[in-house]
Amino acid sequence: MTVLEIREIGDPVLRERSREVSSSELASAETQRLIDDMIETMRLAGGAGLAANQIGETVRIAVAEVSGQNPRYPYKPELPLTVLVNPVIEPLGHLSGAINEGCLSLPDLRAEVPRRLEIRVTYLDRHGVEHVEEKRGLTAGTFQHEVDHLDGVLIVDRADPGSLASWDSYERFHRDDFERRARGIVERFGQ
Ligand code: ZN
Repeated sequence: MTVLEIREIGDPVLRERSREVSSSELASAETQRLIDDMIETMRLAGGAGLAANQIGETVRIAVAEVSGQNPRYPYKPELPLTVLVNPVIEPLGHLSGAINEGCLSLPDLRAEVPRRLEIRVTYLDRHGVEHVEEKRGLTAGTFQHEVDHLDGVLIVDRADPGSLASWDSYERFHRDDFERRARGIVERFGQ
């Protein structure tokens, strides 16, 4: 497996809408290798997710995983490794909330991002099997973050500009408040 270069804000590829992947393309050795490399890259960077644009490929593929306590996001509940191909998100209900997020493509920046707290996500796994799942709470936010990437959208587009913070400032001034809110979300939704 190969660890891929993570593209950073300002790289035009992060602003492209990625294209759908066909079933034959998904089954190809090249795409399967790309998925393996994305998983490896996400894990090495300590991310909770990674979308294909972030490594310079404009296909609708993203990976997400929270295993044990993630050092970047210690409050996130566990999420088994999920490979999302051609994901589509539909909001369920009307609940929204602000989630403090970081992004591997925006080094040293965190922001409060409004997210739907209950969604349905339809996607193919890496074997082309369709899944329809409901996600809630912080996990719903993670999925919206990744699908945003595939549409060329970054957290700075959705964030309250007054909430932008470096990771040091987040730790100093905002972490305690947000982790309290995050615990409330996890208690309420179990995710
Ligand atoms: Zn991101």
